[in-house]
Amino acid sequence: PGDPGLLTARALELIAAADVILYDRLIGAMALDGARPEAELLFVGKEGGGESVPQEETQALMIARAQEGNAVVRLKGGDPFVFGRGGEEALALRAAGISYEIVPGVTAGVAAAAYAGIPVTHRGLAGAVALVTGHPRADTPPDGEGEEAALDWPALAAFPGTLVLYMGVRRLSGIAASLIAAGRSASEPAAVVERGTLPDQRVVTGTLQTIAETAGREAIQAPSIIVVGAVAALAGQLSWLGEKVLGGRTVAVTRARAQASALSRRLEALGARVVQAPVIRVRALPGPPLDPAPYDLVCLSSPNGVAALFERLAAGGRDARALAGARVAAIGPGTARALAEHGIVADVVPERFVAEGLVEALADVPVSRALVARASQARDVLPDALRKRGAEVDVLALYETTVEPLSAPALAAARQADYITFTSSSTVRFFLQAVQGSPPEFSRATRIVSIGPVTSQTLRENGLEPHVEAERHDVGGLVDALIADATARG
Ligand code: SAH
Repeated sequence: PGDPGLLTARALELIAAADVILYDRLIGAMALDGARPEAELLFVGKEGGGESVPQEETQALMIARAQEGNAVVRLKGGDPFVFGRGGEEALALRAAGISYEIVPGVTAGVAAAAYAGIPVTHRGLAGAVALVTGHPRADTPPDGEGEEAALDWPALAAFPGTLVLYMGVRRLSGIAASLIAAGRSASEPAAVVERGTLPDQRVVTGTLQTIAETAGREAIQAPSIIVVGAVAALAGQLSWLGEKVLGGRTVAVTRARAQASALSRRLEALGARVVQAPVIRVRALPGPPLDPAPYDLVCLSSPNGVAALFERLAAGGRDARALAGARVAAIGPGTARALAEHGIVADVVPERFVAEGLVEALADVPVSRALVARASQARDVLPDALRKRGAEVDVLALYETTVEPLSAPALAAARQADYITFTSSSTVRFFLQAVQGSPPEFSRATRIVSIGPVTSQTLRENGLEPHVEAERHDVGGLVDALIADATARG
């Protein structure tokens, strides 16, 4: 329903294996983090209040991709069979003779309530719960047989338990009035949970009589669920999502989708709303198997490089043991962590996480033949410095980074964000390519956060002045600098 931590283990498995993923508007970008880089990600939802991709088109696309032999994931918010049109899509698959699996999910009505401290059933207070659409038309089949089914207000009013209404926030006053008119008590507790389970979740509570006015005053919007019943009053006692240091702030993350998750997760845990604006795509470059035996030093500058290096080793039937004879140097703790995942503890990790830092850190390390494994477009600081010391240096380009086009809504959201983060010079360059033209117009309030001096320099060369520069040039340092700035500005 929002928090990617609520994806089921099965959902994560299938996302990681998918060739094609068709996803909806309410899917958080982080839910797609585990997708393979080559996977085709197709957005089939509504772009900002506009028309959604018609249901028949979505189904046709899903079927076509499956018939081409792809493993297709149709990713929906919450549970696919709860107001998710999952049943219709399964019928279409059955008719086309395509086999499928249904993965149940955590539905918003239950999850958003829980994140607001509302148990939808509670001994003594509610022995039943009804999941109700507050927008019956949205539930009508696409070929729209018959008229819009009206809600049976007397039956809902008489329902002996909690009512959880989906898709109803725009009609909240009508819904409350209809329930009262049909006999539900005006003093019955009610709550609305907006963007439930997400870092910027908001909750308003009251009674059936007051809830519409309160929600209106707070400008509560979709997606929200409405909870009517005695349990709604428990929100006051059981609410557990505290005030967070980045609560209410929006932060745009420009790094590649595959790398963004650690940063995004950290920001979200601090209460920020993260706008995913990945402008970089990382692609491993094809190449022959690698035999590192001749080298006494192997230098790696990014987790991408580590991943690609181990692929090249594996291509020749080798594993971490092939590096036993070499010293291994890593720029930055992320690179060192990626190495550690392969069983290699880096011998050298410089204090400053830039190539110059590694040059300094290697000053006393004897080197006769070095391998510098890195991206195809990288600075030559390290190889030049090693050569100057008389070492023989092979530079191996293991991967390349290319621009990933930004969707219009992602760009608009990034421009409106309170903060935009740049974690490398290439995020700056690719961002400017993705917005086609420089300098991009940010909202005047948007503060630009740079991971360090090299990135700041690239920003300035492109007419952008960083407002915040991290003191420690890694993701943790960037987050610390952002928190300090947000706190200072109150
Ligand atoms: N299949 C989804 C529901 C889709 S219908 C599920 O099982 O959760 C869309 C409605 O779901 C929205 O109008 C809203 O009422 C509800 N919804 C989805 N995400 C929500 C969220 N994060 N917080 C509150 N309500 C949400």
